[in-house]
Parts: sequence; C-alpha cells; structure tokens
Amino acid sequence: MINPHVQLLKTFTYRKLIISNKELTLTLSKTITILNLPFINTTNQQFISNLQKKITTKQNTFIVTANPEIAVYAYDHPQFQKLVQTADYITPDGIGIIKASQIIQQPLKERITGFDTLTSLLEIANNSSLKVYLLGAKPEVLQKTVKNVKKKYPKLQLVGSHDGYFSDDQEIVADIKQLQPNIVAVALGYPKQEEFIAQHRQLCPAIWIGVGGSFDVLSGTVKRAPKIFQKLNLEWLYRFISHPSRLSRFKNLPRFIYLVKHVH
Ligand code: UDP
Repeated sequence: MINPHVQLLKTFTYRKLIISNKELTLTLSKTITILNLPFINTTNQQFISNLQKKITTKQNTFIVTANPEIAVYAYDHPQFQKLVQTADYITPDGIGIIKASQIIQQPLKERITGFDTLTSLLEIANNSSLKVYLLGAKPEVLQKTVKNVKKKYPKLQLVGSHDGYFSDDQEIVADIKQLQPNIVAVALGYPKQEEFIAQHRQLCPAIWIGVGGSFDVLSGTVKRAPKIFQKLNLEWLYRFISHPSRLSRFKNLPRFIYLVKHVH
C-alpha cells in the first residue's frame, strides 16, 4: 500500500523550513463551499504540515473527512450539518467532492482522505513518540489494528484503544481524560464519529479525526484499492466490485450531484 504522504514526511524537516506559518494559515483559510460545507482547498502536503504545527502547539483540532454521502446526510440533517460546520477542517474525501467542486467551477486542489491523513498522523506520532488513542471498529478488527500499528509504528505511544460497539462511553471518556493523547482517531462511521468528537473533544488538546472504515484497512480485514484504481480516481469502483453489498452506499450520489447543481 503506498501512502502519498510518506515522501512528504521523509522530507518534512526540510519542507518545514520553506513553508512559512503565514503561508500555511493563508492556504488553509481558503475554503470552497459545497452543500453548505466549507471544504479546505489545499494539498495533502500542506494540510499535514499544518497538522504538525497544531500538534506541536497543542491546539485542539477537529477534522471531518467528508465524502458525498456525509455531505448529503448533513444536508438532510441540519443539526448534524451544524455540528460538522464546527470542525476546524472539512477535507474532500472522495472523488465525488472534487467533481462537485468542478461542477460549481471552484475546483478543489486534491482529495484528502481519512485513511491517508490517519497514516500520516501515525508517521508523525512515530517520529515524535506521540500518544495515540484508537476508538472504533469491531473488537477483533481493533485488536488486529492495534497489533499492526504497534508493528509498523513502534515508536509511537499507543496509550489506549476501545472497540466501537459500546453502549456507555463513560469508560472511554475517563480513559481519554486521564491519558491525554495527542491524536484521537475515531472510526465509528458517520454520524457517530463526528457526534462523539463534537461531544468530547474538550477532554484533551488533541487532533480529533473521524476516520470511517480506516481500521478495517489498517487491520488487513479490508484491502485498499490498488494504486492504479487510486490514480484513476476509481477507488469507489474497486470497493464496489470487492463488496457489492455496498451498492446502497452509492444511492445518494445522483442526488448529491443534483443538489450540487441546484443548491448553489
Ligand atoms: N463502527 C463502529 N461502531 C458502530 C458502527 C460502526 O465501530 O456503532 C465501525 C465499523 O465497524 C467500521 C466503521 O465504523 O469499522 C465504519 O466503516 P464504514 O466503511 O461504514 O465507514 P465510512 O468510511 O464509509 O464512513
């Protein structure tokens, strides 16, 4: 699996010198609004540089990685939409969002996925021995995720984890409060993960990110699309071919495009 951020991270120290703070802030303050959600219009590289800065300065940061499904759900659920709008960053996770930006003639620079952002954050955590908390997925998937993360990122501190099938969050809340992780990755699927983060993000000044099905991939339970599918922006097609039961996930796409064309 090739992570487009890896090269960036390798050269991060150098790049840090040439991307000024002001430049970063300006880059990330520019957003493109699609279905009332302000998407950051930047590159993976600049986004990660910015997150590195947020970690260093211990700024509480809420990231929503939004695909068309989330955008439509937010459009239909005003309360959830408001909650998503409180995020510090909404990233375009999915070619559908990029296409929508082209339709409204305000093209976004590139796709910034939850999975790639998570693996970049894990690299950063590994390089600086940061504390990470993983929340979500089925117990056996989480167990494999923990094992793989420990193996691949031996220097990060995996301070805690909990599966995503709980009825009472008190234990998790107490854990996070006590452990004070630098990064909290929440893989409960939408809208649960964003609701959890919005409710609990004040527990510690971390990067809080909703990462959907990323633990399924990190655990090796689900394969990410081969590079060629990713390059051709056909990751969705690969997912559909390998899991036809996901067909229902695409049912909102035509409506998404319709709304994009008519709401703006
Ligand atoms: N999940 C969870 N708790 C729940 C519902 C879902 O931990 O109550 C997990 C599920 O096991 C999966 C992830 O959340 O690992 C959602 O994956 P999906 O592919 O549906 O998310 P997407 O990336 O499409 O948002």
